[in-house]
Amino acid sequence: MTALVPLCSLCRRVRDDNGTGFGQGEWGDVLVYMKRYRLAPADFIFSHTYCPDCCVFYRQLMSYGRGDQSFVDRPAYRPAAGT
Ligand SMILES: [Zn+2]
Repeated sequence: MTALVPLCSLCRRVRDDNGTGFGQGEWGDVLVYMKRYRLAPADFIFSHTYCPDCCVFYRQLMSYGRGDQSFVDRPAYRPAAGT
């Protein structure tokens, strides 16, 4: 059986919805996910999306592109530890 795993297109973390509602899982490293569930690369396919952290970053980036200079005054985007 092939699992469909949500993957963030920017930071490459995956969401683990096992034991939670759809979309409620924690985001983490894909290798940790594979090890936890003993998956081989052929056991799953990715569904590309954005994690909440990257959504905020992307929204800020788009506002900067529209001339909103406040983006440069905000704290720099930092991926979660372990990514
Ligand atoms: Zn992300």
